Order: sequence, then C-alpha cells, then structure tokens
Amino acid sequence: MKTIAIVGGGSGGVSTANHLAYKLREQVQVGIVKIVLVEGSQSHYYQPGFLEIPFDMMTPYSTYKPISRMLADGITLVPEFATALDLKNRVVKTDKQSINYDFLVIATGARYDYDSIPGLKQGTNNFYSLDSAVELKKKLNNFKAGRIVVGVSSMPYKCTPAPLEAVFMLNDYFTRRGIRDKVEIQYVYPMPMAFPDQGISDIALKMFHERGIKSNLGFQIKAVDVAKKELVSQKDEKIAYDLALIVPPHRGNRFLESTGATDQMGWVKVDRYTLNVEGYDNAYAIGDATNLQVSKAGSVADAEAIVVSDRITQSVVGEDPVATYDGSGGALMLTGMGKASMITSSYTQKPVFMPESYSFYWLKLIYNNLYWNITAKPVLNGVVR
Ligand SMILES: Cc1cc2nc3c(=O)[nH]c(=O)nc-3n(C[C@H](O)[C@H](O)[C@H](O)COP(=O)(O)OP(=O)(O)OC[C@H]3O[C@@H](n4cnc5c(N)ncnc54)[C@H](O)[C@@H]3O)c2cc1C
Repeated sequence: MKTIAIVGGGSGGVSTANHLAYKLREQVQVGIVKIVLVEGSQSHYYQPGFLEIPFDMMTPYSTYKPISRMLADGITLVPEFATALDLKNRVVKTDKQSINYDFLVIATGARYDYDSIPGLKQGTNNFYSLDSAVELKKKLNNFKAGRIVVGVSSMPYKCTPAPLEAVFMLNDYFTRRGIRDKVEIQYVYPMPMAFPDQGISDIALKMFHERGIKSNLGFQIKAVDVAKKELVSQKDEKIAYDLALIVPPHRGNRFLESTGATDQMGWVKVDRYTLNVEGYDNAYAIGDATNLQVSKAGSVADAEAIVVSDRITQSVVGEDPVATYDGSGGALMLTGMGKASMITSSYTQKPVFMPESYSFYWLKLIYNNLYWNITAKPVLNGVVR
C-alpha cells in the first residue's frame, strides 16, 4: 500500500487530490494506493470572490463550500490541522495522529502576519478573508466622503493584481453612487512601481491618470497610527486616510519552519521545474506555500497540482517522473464594473496584459461558478486535460 498525503485542502490541495483520485482510480479501488487529504478547515474557499463581495458581484455564501463536498470518491479526509512534518521519516503529525506517507504534497498556502506591522489589524481593513470582505462591504456602504487608501504592506502577496482591481472597482462604485467627486482614491505600493512588472505598471499608471486616481509608490508601511488614522512609512512619511484597505504581510505557515525546508519568510524551498521540496524526491510543495518567484495565484496552484499529480502517478506506476512546471499562470483582472483584462505569464513569457473588455468581465462572472467543477473538482477529468 502506498500512501499519498496532501496537507492543505485549498485550491492547490483539493485539485491535487482530485486529479490523483482520477489518475490512480484503479490503484485506489484495489487498495494499493491511499490518498489522504489533511485539512482542518471545514470549508473550501474561492478567495477571488472575497474581492467581489464588497461590490455585490458575489455573496459571502457563494464563496465557500464544505470541504467534504469538494472531494472525489477515493479520497480520505483527515479533518485536522497538521502540527508537524517529519520529512526524513515521512510522517505528517496532527494533534490526534501520525500519518506515514510514501509521497507528500504540501499545499498549506500563506498566513497573514498582522503582528509585524503595529496598528495594522486595528486600524485598517482589507478583502483578503471572508470576514474582512464582509466588514469592508458595510464600511463602503456607509462611506460618504474622504480619502480611501488601497495599499500593499509587503511583497509577496496573493493575486498580484488584486489591489489594482480594488482601486478600479472603487472608482466605478463611487461613480455609480454619484459621489466620486467627494472621494479621493490613493494607491500605495511598496515597490517603486505600481506592479512588479514595468510594462503592466505603466499601463496601470495610465489608467490611474484617466480615472483621477492618485498613487504613492515605494511607500513601505512600518506602522499604522490608529488614533490619527495615518499610515507611517519606513522613512517616517505619513499618509492620512479615512478608510485604508491594506493587504497584510504574507508568510508561510509556522508549523513548516521546523522542517528545515523553508526560507526566512517560511516559504517551502522547491525546485522550480519538478516542484520537489529541496532534498526530497518524494515530497512536493505547490501553490502559495512555495518560495517560487511566480504569482501566488489559484491558476498557478492548479497548474502545479496537475504537474505534481502527474509526477506522483508516474512514480506509483513505476515510471520516472518527467512532468515539469513551466511557470505558467494567469488571472482575469477586473478593471471596473463591467470590464476586465487577463494577465498571463510563465518562466519564459513576461506578463502580458490583454486589452480590457466586456467579454473578459463575463468570463470572470462565469468562472466564479465554474471554479467548483472545472478547477477544484474537475468533472471533465479524462475528457480534457
Ligand atoms: C482577494 C483575493 C483575490 C484573488 N484573486 C485571484 C484570481 O483572480 N486569480 C487567481 O488565480 N488567484 C487569485 N487569488 C489567489 C488564490 O486564491 C490563491 O493563490 C490560491 O487559493 C492558492 O491556493 P493554495 O492551495 O496554495 O492555498 P489556499 O487556497 O489558501 O489553501 C491553503 C489551505 O491550507 C490549509 N492549511 C493551512 N495550514 C494547514 C495545516 N497546518 N494543516 C492542514 N491544512 C492547513 C488551509 O486551511 C487552506 O484550506 C486571490 C486571492 C485573494 C485573497
């Protein structure tokens, strides 16, 4: 019996488990392979929906489903959080049990490190979790006039275009409410550009100019003065705000630190092509949890899930694992209410920003519903790749 343990049942983990359940279905049926998903959360979240909740594009309830409903037949769910990984002895530990594995996939995403910026949690809002998005919606609905700052506290963070999307959505949201002239929108970014790619940064800044959006680039947030409602930078510059939407710092999950396989920020060190955890041929990491210089995006996690499930399948059936990841990923990027673009990139292709259109916007709305059955639990497994 070979046991494949997947730790984390978010976008990448569920996709990996479901692809494996299809590819190894005969082996699972006859009992020579066991697929185990270790996930302590009862729900599986579609995180792109969090950005859409404040703008009424998705309801809170439509952004999550019970994890048990996301899994194909043949997957054993362990509804517990992993507390330790022993990579040398091939064991996943939870508070209740130890699971010996032959193959491991780490897909535990990112955690938000509010504590590293004093005042951030108390003084700002964001749309990076379900609760935060719901709270933000209430605040926006009550907002009548003043300065809204949308910013990023540090790199890297999930879905690189998301703060830009928020800015463009806010512009249209307040225009529709007829109070755009009473609201100042300002974009704050830690890099000296508006996006990690210069070409897309130039496009975004042109769009800011056309929409009357201000920007403050190279502003690295050191603290938030909650009483004065000010963001304070490393250089002690200050930005006053009435409402601040700040993407919190992202880090890898704490329990991974003791594995010795993480970098200083807690990201798992992996080979960029094979996705093997450095030094371990039978262990992989995917999605937001890795140290790869690619976007922390669901599209990346899913592309990696396919590669890893191929490699594990190849190993299980006695072949050399040859599938590799090419760095590909993409995102449908909202550029307003009724408009969107698409950004794609790979290891060999610089990010491409496709012209905004109504079609991309509709694709985004459709994908919000397709996600569950096409990406997370692919019903077309075996029909298309
Ligand atoms: C506002 C927003 C907008 C976004 N928009 C887009 C978009 O348009 N396009 C796009 O491609 N991506 C987008 N993303 C990013 C995308 O959601 C993530 O990159 C993707 O979910 C990463 O998948 P993952 O499996 O690595 O991590 P996650 O989906 O975050 O899953 C990690 C899982 O690990 C579990 N876990 C954590 N610790 C443990 C533990 N100790 N034991 C067991 N389980 C554990 C968690 O409970 C969670 O279920 C967006 C994200 C946000 C927040």
